[in-house]
Amino acid sequence: MIIGVPKEIKNHEYRVGLIPASVRELISFGHQVVIETNAGAGIGLTDADYKAAGASIISNAKEVFTRSEMIIKVKEPQAVERTMLHEGQILFTYLHLAPDFPQTEDLIKSKAICIAYETVTDNKGTLPLLAPMSEVAGRMSIQAGAQTLENSRGGRGLLLSGVPGVEPARVIILGGGVVGSNAARMAVGMRADVTILDKNIDTLRALDAEFQGKAKVIYSTKEAIDRLVVQADLIIGAILIPGAAAPKLITAAHLKMMKSGSALVDVAIDQGGCFETSHPTTHADPTFIIDDIVHYCVANMPGAVARTSTFALNNATLPYIINLANKGYKKALQDDEGFLKGLNIMHGKVTNKEIADTFNLHY
Ligand code: NAD
Repeated sequence: MIIGVPKEIKNHEYRVGLIPASVRELISFGHQVVIETNAGAGIGLTDADYKAAGASIISNAKEVFTRSEMIIKVKEPQAVERTMLHEGQILFTYLHLAPDFPQTEDLIKSKAICIAYETVTDNKGTLPLLAPMSEVAGRMSIQAGAQTLENSRGGRGLLLSGVPGVEPARVIILGGGVVGSNAARMAVGMRADVTILDKNIDTLRALDAEFQGKAKVIYSTKEAIDRLVVQADLIIGAILIPGAAAPKLITAAHLKMMKSGSALVDVAIDQGGCFETSHPTTHADPTFIIDDIVHYCVANMPGAVARTSTFALNNATLPYIINLANKGYKKALQDDEGFLKGLNIMHGKVTNKEIADTFNLHY
Protein backbone atom coordinates (compact mmCIF):
# COMPACT_ATOMS: atom_id res chain seq x y z
CA MET A 1 0.00 0.00 0.00
CA ILE A 2 1.17 3.59 -0.59
CA ILE A 3 0.91 5.51 2.67
CA GLY A 4 1.10 9.32 2.66
CA VAL A 5 1.95 11.81 5.41
CA PRO A 6 1.29 15.50 4.70
CA LYS A 7 2.80 18.27 6.85
CA GLU A 8 0.21 19.44 9.41
CA ILE A 9 -1.15 22.86 8.49
CA LYS A 10 -3.36 23.72 11.49
CA ASN A 11 -2.06 26.80 13.30
CA HIS A 12 0.85 25.96 15.67
CA GLU A 13 0.60 22.21 15.02
CA TYR A 14 4.09 20.69 14.98
CA ARG A 15 3.18 17.02 15.44
CA VAL A 16 3.44 14.63 12.48
CA GLY A 17 1.51 11.47 11.55
CA LEU A 18 4.47 9.06 11.31
CA ILE A 19 7.93 9.14 12.89
CA PRO A 20 10.87 7.62 10.97
CA ALA A 21 10.80 4.45 13.12
CA SER A 22 7.16 3.86 12.10
CA VAL A 23 8.08 4.44 8.44
CA ARG A 24 10.78 1.79 8.72
CA GLU A 25 8.30 -0.72 10.22
CA LEU A 26 5.80 -0.13 7.40
CA ILE A 27 8.47 -0.46 4.75
CA SER A 28 9.62 -3.76 6.28
CA PHE A 29 6.13 -5.11 5.43
CA GLY A 30 6.60 -4.10 1.78
CA HIS A 31 4.62 -0.83 1.85
CA GLN A 32 5.70 2.53 0.43
CA VAL A 33 5.65 5.77 2.42
CA VAL A 34 5.52 9.22 0.85
CA ILE A 35 6.00 12.20 3.15
CA GLU A 36 5.75 15.91 2.49
CA THR A 37 9.04 17.78 2.77
CA ASN A 38 9.68 19.26 6.24
CA ALA A 39 6.68 17.39 7.72
CA GLY A 40 8.67 16.71 10.93
CA ALA A 41 10.88 19.79 10.86
CA GLY A 42 9.08 21.44 13.79
CA ILE A 43 10.11 18.60 16.12
CA GLY A 44 13.59 17.94 14.79
CA LEU A 45 12.72 15.10 12.39
CA THR A 46 14.47 15.93 9.12
CA ASP A 47 13.81 14.82 5.54
CA ALA A 48 17.16 12.98 5.78
CA ASP A 49 15.82 10.98 8.79
CA TYR A 50 12.75 9.97 6.79
CA LYS A 51 14.82 9.13 3.69
CA ALA A 52 17.11 6.96 5.82
CA ALA A 53 14.00 5.11 7.06
CA GLY A 54 13.01 4.47 3.42
CA ALA A 55 10.37 7.15 2.75
CA SER A 56 10.13 9.20 -0.45
CA ILE A 57 10.08 12.95 0.15
CA ILE A 58 7.43 14.86 -1.81
CA SER A 59 7.53 18.62 -2.34
CA ASN A 60 3.82 19.38 -1.84
CA ALA A 61 0.72 18.12 -0.05
CA LYS A 62 -1.36 17.82 -3.22
CA GLU A 63 0.94 15.14 -4.59
CA VAL A 64 1.01 13.29 -1.24
CA PHE A 65 -2.81 13.14 -1.29
CA THR A 66 -2.98 12.18 -4.98
CA ARG A 67 -0.46 9.34 -4.74
CA SER A 68 -1.53 7.75 -1.44
CA GLU A 69 -4.03 4.99 -0.76
CA MET A 70 -3.96 5.87 2.94
CA ILE A 71 -3.30 9.26 4.60
CA ILE A 72 -1.95 9.38 8.16
CA LYS A 73 -2.29 12.68 9.99
CA VAL A 74 -2.62 14.08 13.51
CA LYS A 75 -5.24 16.86 13.36
CA GLU A 76 -8.53 16.84 11.48
CA PRO A 77 -8.07 17.70 7.78
CA GLN A 78 -8.38 21.42 7.20
CA ALA A 79 -10.73 22.72 4.46
CA VAL A 80 -8.02 22.80 1.79
CA GLU A 81 -6.87 19.27 2.68
CA ARG A 82 -10.43 17.97 2.47
CA THR A 83 -10.59 19.00 -1.19
CA MET A 84 -7.55 16.78 -1.86
CA LEU A 85 -9.07 13.55 -0.48
CA HIS A 86 -10.32 11.09 -3.07
CA GLU A 87 -12.92 8.33 -3.27
CA GLY A 88 -11.90 5.10 -1.54
CA GLN A 89 -8.84 6.68 0.13
CA ILE A 90 -8.31 5.81 3.80
CA LEU A 91 -7.93 8.76 6.18
CA PHE A 92 -6.68 7.85 9.67
CA THR A 93 -6.33 10.77 12.10
CA TYR A 94 -8.09 12.67 14.93
CA LEU A 95 -11.38 13.97 13.45
CA HIS A 96 -13.56 15.24 16.36
CA LEU A 97 -16.54 15.51 14.00
CA ALA A 98 -19.31 16.04 16.56
CA PRO A 99 -18.86 19.82 16.88
CA ASP A 100 -17.82 20.27 13.22
CA PHE A 101 -20.53 20.09 10.58
CA PRO A 102 -18.52 21.66 7.70
CA GLN A 103 -15.84 18.98 8.11
CA THR A 104 -18.45 16.21 8.34
CA GLU A 105 -20.11 17.47 5.15
CA ASP A 106 -16.78 17.63 3.26
CA LEU A 107 -15.74 14.14 4.37
CA ILE A 108 -19.11 12.76 3.25
CA LYS A 109 -18.58 14.42 -0.15
CA SER A 110 -15.02 13.04 -0.43
CA LYS A 111 -16.29 9.41 -0.31
CA ALA A 112 -13.11 8.58 1.59
CA ILE A 113 -12.93 5.99 4.39
CA CYS A 114 -12.52 8.17 7.47
CA ILE A 115 -11.32 6.49 10.67
CA ALA A 116 -10.99 8.67 13.78
CA TYR A 117 -8.32 7.99 16.41
CA GLU A 118 -10.58 9.27 19.17
CA THR A 119 -13.41 6.75 18.69
CA VAL A 120 -11.27 3.59 18.46
CA THR A 121 -11.80 1.44 21.58
CA ASP A 122 -9.87 -1.52 23.02
CA ASN A 123 -11.15 -4.70 24.65
CA LYS A 124 -11.52 -2.90 28.01
CA GLY A 125 -13.77 -0.31 26.34
CA THR A 126 -11.17 2.45 26.89
CA LEU A 127 -9.79 4.75 24.20
CA PRO A 128 -6.23 3.60 23.34
CA LEU A 129 -5.52 6.40 20.84
CA LEU A 130 -6.66 9.17 23.20
CA ALA A 131 -4.80 7.77 26.22
CA PRO A 132 -1.31 8.88 25.12
CA MET A 133 -2.47 12.50 24.83
CA SER A 134 -4.16 12.25 28.25
CA GLU A 135 -0.88 10.95 29.67
CA VAL A 136 0.95 13.93 28.19
CA ALA A 137 -1.67 16.46 29.34
CA GLY A 138 -1.83 14.94 32.83
CA ARG A 139 1.91 15.08 33.32
CA MET A 140 2.09 18.55 31.82
CA SER A 141 -0.72 19.88 34.03
CA ILE A 142 1.58 19.88 37.07
CA GLN A 143 4.34 21.65 35.10
CA ALA A 144 1.74 24.21 33.94
CA GLY A 145 0.29 24.49 37.45
CA ALA A 146 3.74 25.01 38.99
CA GLN A 147 4.40 27.91 36.59
CA THR A 148 0.93 29.31 37.19
CA LEU A 149 1.68 29.52 40.93
CA GLU A 150 4.68 31.77 40.24
CA ASN A 151 4.34 35.49 41.06
CA SER A 152 4.96 36.53 37.46
CA ARG A 153 1.71 34.79 36.42
CA GLY A 154 -0.32 36.27 39.28
CA GLY A 155 0.08 33.16 41.45
CA ARG A 156 0.71 32.90 45.19
CA GLY A 157 4.47 32.64 44.68
CA LEU A 158 4.67 29.02 45.82
CA LEU A 159 7.17 26.31 45.01
CA LEU A 160 5.23 23.02 44.77
CA SER A 161 7.73 21.08 46.85
CA GLY A 162 8.36 23.72 49.48
CA VAL A 163 11.92 23.54 50.89
CA PRO A 164 13.28 22.13 54.17
CA GLY A 165 11.42 24.11 56.81
CA VAL A 166 8.66 25.38 54.48
CA GLU A 167 5.59 23.27 53.74
CA PRO A 168 4.76 22.09 50.20
CA ALA A 169 1.83 23.34 48.12
CA ARG A 170 -1.52 21.54 48.38
CA VAL A 171 -2.57 20.02 45.07
CA ILE A 172 -6.14 18.74 44.61
CA ILE A 173 -6.76 16.56 41.54
CA LEU A 174 -10.40 16.14 40.47
CA GLY A 175 -10.67 12.85 38.56
CA GLY A 176 -8.20 9.98 38.92
CA GLY A 177 -8.34 8.55 35.38
CA VAL A 178 -5.53 8.75 32.82
CA VAL A 179 -5.01 12.54 33.17
CA GLY A 180 -5.49 12.60 36.94
CA SER A 181 -3.27 9.62 37.77
CA ASN A 182 -0.46 11.00 35.58
CA ALA A 183 -0.84 14.42 37.22
CA ALA A 184 -0.67 12.74 40.63
CA ARG A 185 2.54 10.87 39.71
CA MET A 186 4.21 14.16 38.79
CA ALA A 187 2.88 16.06 41.82
CA VAL A 188 3.95 13.31 44.23
CA GLY A 189 7.33 13.16 42.46
CA MET A 190 7.70 16.90 43.06
CA ARG A 191 6.83 16.35 46.75
CA ALA A 192 3.63 18.39 46.75
CA ASP A 193 0.86 17.53 49.25
CA VAL A 194 -1.50 15.65 46.90
CA THR A 195 -5.18 14.68 47.17
CA ILE A 196 -7.05 12.87 44.37
CA LEU A 197 -10.86 12.73 44.16
CA ASP A 198 -12.84 10.30 42.04
CA LYS A 199 -16.30 8.72 42.05
CA ASN A 200 -15.20 5.30 40.84
CA ILE A 201 -14.36 3.02 43.79
CA ASP A 202 -12.16 0.70 41.69
CA THR A 203 -10.15 3.72 40.52
CA LEU A 204 -9.78 4.91 44.13
CA ARG A 205 -8.61 1.43 45.20
CA ALA A 206 -6.02 1.29 42.39
CA LEU A 207 -4.72 4.79 43.23
CA ASP A 208 -4.54 3.94 46.92
CA ALA A 209 -2.54 0.78 46.14
CA GLU A 210 -0.21 2.71 43.83
CA PHE A 211 0.51 5.70 46.06
CA GLN A 212 0.69 3.87 49.41
CA GLY A 213 -0.26 7.01 51.33
CA LYS A 214 1.92 9.41 49.32
CA ALA A 215 -1.32 10.84 47.90
CA LYS A 216 -4.65 10.99 49.73
CA VAL A 217 -7.46 9.33 47.81
CA ILE A 218 -10.96 10.66 48.53
CA TYR A 219 -14.46 9.83 47.27
CA SER A 220 -15.74 12.81 45.29
CA THR A 221 -18.78 14.55 46.77
CA LYS A 222 -19.88 18.18 46.92
CA GLU A 223 -19.02 18.14 50.64
CA ALA A 224 -15.47 16.88 49.98
CA ILE A 225 -14.94 19.49 47.25
CA ASP A 226 -16.25 22.34 49.47
CA ARG A 227 -13.91 21.24 52.26
CA LEU A 228 -10.80 20.81 50.10
CA VAL A 229 -11.20 23.89 47.89
CA VAL A 230 -10.44 26.26 50.79
CA GLN A 231 -7.15 24.45 51.51
CA ALA A 232 -5.99 24.12 47.89
CA ASP A 233 -3.11 26.00 46.27
CA LEU A 234 -3.50 24.22 42.92
CA ILE A 235 -6.54 22.36 41.57
CA ILE A 236 -6.30 20.15 38.48
CA GLY A 237 -9.57 19.45 36.60
CA ALA A 238 -9.34 15.96 35.06
CA ILE A 239 -12.96 14.82 34.89
CA LEU A 240 -14.50 12.89 32.02
CA ILE A 241 -18.05 11.70 31.67
CA PRO A 242 -17.98 9.93 28.31
CA GLY A 243 -20.27 11.50 25.75
CA ALA A 244 -21.29 14.38 28.06
CA ALA A 245 -20.05 17.85 28.90
CA ALA A 246 -17.87 17.93 32.02
CA PRO A 247 -19.80 18.79 35.23
CA LYS A 248 -18.90 22.16 36.80
CA LEU A 249 -17.42 20.85 40.05
CA ILE A 250 -15.79 24.17 40.98
CA THR A 251 -18.30 27.02 40.84
CA ALA A 252 -17.84 30.78 40.71
CA ALA A 253 -18.79 30.83 44.42
CA HIS A 254 -15.91 28.47 45.23
CA LEU A 255 -13.38 31.01 43.88
CA LYS A 256 -14.39 33.43 46.63
CA MET A 257 -13.62 30.73 49.24
CA MET A 258 -10.13 30.02 47.83
CA LYS A 259 -6.80 31.55 48.86
CA SER A 260 -5.86 34.54 46.73
CA GLY A 261 -3.30 33.60 44.03
CA SER A 262 -4.28 29.92 43.95
CA ALA A 263 -4.27 28.24 40.55
CA LEU A 264 -6.77 26.20 38.54
CA VAL A 265 -5.63 24.01 35.62
CA ASP A 266 -8.69 22.83 33.69
CA VAL A 267 -7.47 19.94 31.55
CA ALA A 268 -11.10 18.97 30.83
CA ILE A 269 -11.58 22.28 29.00
CA ASP A 270 -11.79 20.38 25.69
CA GLN A 271 -15.08 18.93 27.04
CA GLY A 272 -16.30 22.33 28.22
CA GLY A 273 -14.26 22.39 31.43
CA CYS A 274 -15.04 21.30 34.99
CA PHE A 275 -14.73 24.79 36.51
CA GLU A 276 -17.66 27.19 35.98
CA THR A 277 -15.33 30.13 35.28
CA SER A 278 -13.14 28.36 32.66
CA HIS A 279 -12.90 29.35 29.04
CA PRO A 280 -10.45 27.92 26.49
CA THR A 281 -7.03 29.62 26.23
CA THR A 282 -4.01 29.16 23.95
CA HIS A 283 -0.33 28.39 24.51
CA ALA A 284 0.42 31.96 23.41
CA ASP A 285 -1.79 33.39 26.20
CA PRO A 286 -2.50 30.47 28.56
CA THR A 287 -3.85 32.11 31.73
CA PHE A 288 -6.42 34.60 32.95
CA ILE A 289 -7.42 35.74 36.43
CA ILE A 290 -10.88 35.84 38.00
CA ASP A 291 -11.36 36.82 41.67
CA ASP A 292 -7.57 36.53 42.19
CA ILE A 293 -7.58 32.89 41.07
CA VAL A 294 -5.29 32.17 38.11
CA HIS A 295 -6.91 29.92 35.47
CA TYR A 296 -4.91 27.85 32.93
CA CYS A 297 -7.30 26.37 30.33
CA VAL A 298 -5.30 25.40 27.23
CA ALA A 299 -7.42 23.07 25.10
CA ASN A 300 -4.54 21.39 23.23
CA MET A 301 -1.90 20.97 25.91
CA PRO A 302 0.03 18.14 24.11
CA GLY A 303 0.67 20.53 21.19
CA ALA A 304 3.26 22.38 23.33
CA VAL A 305 5.38 19.25 23.70
CA ALA A 306 4.92 18.13 20.12
CA ARG A 307 7.92 15.84 19.93
CA THR A 308 7.01 13.78 23.01
CA SER A 309 3.37 13.76 21.89
CA THR A 310 4.21 12.59 18.37
CA PHE A 311 6.32 9.69 19.61
CA ALA A 312 3.67 8.72 22.21
CA LEU A 313 0.90 8.88 19.60
CA ASN A 314 2.90 6.77 17.10
CA ASN A 315 3.49 4.06 19.71
CA ALA A 316 -0.29 3.75 20.01
CA THR A 317 -1.33 4.20 16.36
CA LEU A 318 1.35 2.10 14.64
CA PRO A 319 -0.22 -1.36 15.27
CA TYR A 320 -3.51 -0.07 13.79
CA ILE A 321 -1.74 1.48 10.79
CA ILE A 322 0.14 -1.77 10.14
CA ASN A 323 -3.15 -3.70 10.28
CA LEU A 324 -4.84 -1.31 7.82
CA ALA A 325 -1.88 -1.52 5.45
CA ASN A 326 -1.37 -5.30 5.69
CA LYS A 327 -4.98 -6.47 5.72
CA GLY A 328 -6.79 -3.65 3.92
CA TYR A 329 -9.40 -1.62 5.77
CA LYS A 330 -12.28 -4.11 5.37
CA LYS A 331 -10.52 -7.04 7.05
CA ALA A 332 -8.66 -4.88 9.58
CA LEU A 333 -11.96 -3.37 10.80
CA GLN A 334 -13.92 -6.65 10.61
CA ASP A 335 -11.31 -8.44 12.73
CA ASP A 336 -11.43 -5.89 15.56
CA GLU A 337 -14.73 -4.62 16.94
CA GLY A 338 -12.99 -1.78 18.80
CA PHE A 339 -11.15 -0.66 15.68
CA LEU A 340 -14.46 -0.69 13.76
CA LYS A 341 -15.74 1.89 16.28
CA GLY A 342 -13.15 4.23 14.79
CA LEU A 343 -14.93 4.24 11.43
CA ASN A 344 -16.83 7.55 11.27
CA ILE A 345 -17.59 8.03 7.57
CA MET A 346 -17.35 5.63 4.64
CA HIS A 347 -18.25 5.97 0.95
CA GLY A 348 -20.27 9.15 1.56
CA LYS A 349 -22.20 7.95 4.63
CA VAL A 350 -21.80 8.62 8.36
CA THR A 351 -21.26 5.27 10.11
CA ASN A 352 -20.89 6.52 13.69
CA LYS A 353 -24.19 6.67 15.60
CA GLU A 354 -23.34 9.67 17.82
CA ILE A 355 -22.28 11.78 14.83
CA ALA A 356 -25.30 10.67 12.78
CA ASP A 357 -27.54 11.60 15.75
CA THR A 358 -25.81 14.97 16.23
CA PHE A 359 -26.41 16.05 12.64
CA ASN A 360 -29.56 13.99 12.04
CA LEU A 361 -27.88 12.13 9.19
CA HIS A 362 -29.77 8.83 9.09
CA TYR A 363 -30.09 6.89 5.86
P1 NAD B 1 -10.64 9.21 32.13
O1 NAD B 1 -11.94 8.66 31.71
O2 NAD B 1 -9.43 8.33 32.13
O3 NAD B 1 -10.76 9.82 33.61
C1 NAD B 1 -11.85 10.62 34.01
C2 NAD B 1 -12.12 10.34 35.48
O4 NAD B 1 -13.11 11.28 35.95
C3 NAD B 1 -12.69 8.95 35.73
O5 NAD B 1 -11.83 8.23 36.63
C4 NAD B 1 -14.06 9.23 36.37
O6 NAD B 1 -14.43 8.27 37.35
C5 NAD B 1 -13.81 10.59 36.97
N1 NAD B 1 -15.03 11.33 37.33
C6 NAD B 1 -16.20 11.45 36.66
N2 NAD B 1 -17.06 12.22 37.37
C7 NAD B 1 -16.41 12.62 38.49
C8 NAD B 1 -16.73 13.43 39.61
N3 NAD B 1 -17.94 14.02 39.72
N4 NAD B 1 -15.80 13.62 40.58
C9 NAD B 1 -14.59 13.05 40.49
N5 NAD B 1 -14.22 12.26 39.45
C10 NAD B 1 -15.12 12.04 38.48
O7 NAD B 1 -10.39 10.51 31.23
P2 NAD B 1 -8.98 11.21 30.94
O8 NAD B 1 -8.35 10.57 29.76
O9 NAD B 1 -8.23 11.27 32.22
O10 NAD B 1 -9.44 12.67 30.48
C11 NAD B 1 -9.86 13.66 31.42
C12 NAD B 1 -10.20 14.94 30.67
O11 NAD B 1 -9.02 15.52 30.11
C13 NAD B 1 -11.15 14.72 29.49
O12 NAD B 1 -12.07 15.79 29.46
C14 NAD B 1 -10.24 14.80 28.28
O13 NAD B 1 -10.95 15.20 27.10
C15 NAD B 1 -9.30 15.88 28.76
N6 NAD B 1 -8.02 16.03 28.00
C16 NAD B 1 -7.65 17.30 27.71
C17 NAD B 1 -6.46 17.56 27.07
C18 NAD B 1 -6.04 18.98 26.84
O14 NAD B 1 -5.10 19.22 26.08
N7 NAD B 1 -6.65 19.96 27.48
C19 NAD B 1 -5.64 16.50 26.64
C20 NAD B 1 -6.05 15.19 26.95
C21 NAD B 1 -7.26 14.95 27.64
